[in-house]
Amino acid sequence: MGEIVKMDIQNSNEMKFNGLLKDKSFINGDWVSADDKSTFEVINPFDNSLITNVASLGGQETRRAIDCATEAFKTWSKTTAEERSNLLKKLYQLQMDYLDDLAQILTLEQGKPLKESRGEIKYGASFIEWFAEEARRTYGDTIPSHGVDKRIITIKQPVGVVAAITPWNFPNAMITRKIAPALAAGCTIIVKPAKQTPLSALALAALVEKAGFPKGVFNVITANTAREIGDEFTSNSLVRKISFTGSTKVGKTLMRQCADTVKKVSMELGGNAPFIVFEDANIDNAVSGAIASKFRNAGQTCVCTNRIFVHDKIYETFVDKFTKAVRKLKLGSGLDEKTEIGPLINKDAVEFIDGLVKKSVSEGAELILGGQQIDNMENFYPPTILSNVNSDMEIFKNEIFGSIAPIIKFNDEAEVIRMANDTPFGLASYFYTNDYAKIWRVSEGLEYGMVGVNTGMISTTVAPFGGVKESGNGREGSKYGMDDYLEIKYLCIGGI
Ligand code: NAP
Repeated sequence: MGEIVKMDIQNSNEMKFNGLLKDKSFINGDWVSADDKSTFEVINPFDNSLITNVASLGGQETRRAIDCATEAFKTWSKTTAEERSNLLKKLYQLQMDYLDDLAQILTLEQGKPLKESRGEIKYGASFIEWFAEEARRTYGDTIPSHGVDKRIITIKQPVGVVAAITPWNFPNAMITRKIAPALAAGCTIIVKPAKQTPLSALALAALVEKAGFPKGVFNVITANTAREIGDEFTSNSLVRKISFTGSTKVGKTLMRQCADTVKKVSMELGGNAPFIVFEDANIDNAVSGAIASKFRNAGQTCVCTNRIFVHDKIYETFVDKFTKAVRKLKLGSGLDEKTEIGPLINKDAVEFIDGLVKKSVSEGAELILGGQQIDNMENFYPPTILSNVNSDMEIFKNEIFGSIAPIIKFNDEAEVIRMANDTPFGLASYFYTNDYAKIWRVSEGLEYGMVGVNTGMISTTVAPFGGVKESGNGREGSKYGMDDYLEIKYLCIGGI
């Protein structure tokens, strides 16, 4: 088990801008309570202490927010790309100016180490900067006409009011990855953040207000009962698009609900990432890559390595080096700079992970490291390594979303590609080899939206992020990220 670092959250640094800590929803430029004044608790996962109570809105307030966003769309969609770009650049600058404050709020409500929170705030800001630039490049086409008296052109227009629903594991970046392209395209947007992490979303709303965006263009609805908000988002015909990041189960529900009003949907859902180490790989690099892609955010990322496949010839060496490196990881409060692994999001997550470890051992896996809950640290689970895992085990089929690294032995390339693809998910995948021909063959053979070759870190603003199969549809970030928020209209001009 890793070394444990404890820290009193009261010793955290002072905020540079106290106006970032909000406890009300943000609708049409106003900070609003629920009609019935109800609130819900936001809990610090490090020690289960109460951070604050936040307004808990319902369907009625959501309807009003949609009406306001619809009204705001009439003028926002008519602004020039330059105006939208300039406001987004201001927002980017504000997010960078208050990086430390935002990182601290994020760590308090989510638990991840401050270093990772700062990384997320920079990553989140990079989407705002990128789409501020892309706003000015939403070009249409001229198309060679089918008739001598006709000309054909395409224009791109914003889809309309967007509703976004986001998860707790990246409380800032999963929002900016949606709002930046939406606002750049000329859409207005309403965000419903996860109930565990509403404070980062509200802090972002405070920055939007400070940047001077018009009222109703960006709205945040906080709620204890997500279903009520989701029902209104999906059934209201004024909402033209739903952008969701979260579990495949909820994503499927929302897709079904969107059918009645035939909305555009973007779905960033769960994963079950394979991490393959071939016999010719640089083992030390593979160990570092596996640690980075497995244990970031305590294993709670959608692109986290979920199954480590290691070639028979290097299996013992890899397991030995990996175990030595994982043993050194430091657990503790995210506010302590030395911490590398924070808590899981709550007690239920710990119980799920513990159950998965016990089930795997009962199915024949060998426990190499960890595997025991930690006394007096309720929401923590130590980095855990299981070897001799096989494709019949439950852990092979499940998205783990926690700090367990299951290792599977393989013998040949075709076999490992088949096993890697043996899942309904298709988000991220990774492999290590020094054979360039194998790089092409395996990259093409993996049924995944993203492939990391000789690296465990693939997320960047400039590349298209997204999955295939039951990991979702649509792409976020990159030059493709605007497409999800734009409609292509074709004009046929006759009588020439
Ligand atoms: P989740 O349970 O699906 O929740 C995600 C969001 O959906 C939260 O805001 C949640 O609200 C809301 N929600 C839940 N039920 C709803 C309903 N019936 N109608 C409308 N909204 C509803 O997922 P999570 O546990 O927060 O996040 C973990 C999952 O997200 C993992 O599967 C992970 O792989 C995936 N993820 C994917 C990506 C990607 O880019 N592909 C990125 C990050 C995470 P409440 O919090 O209020 O319940």
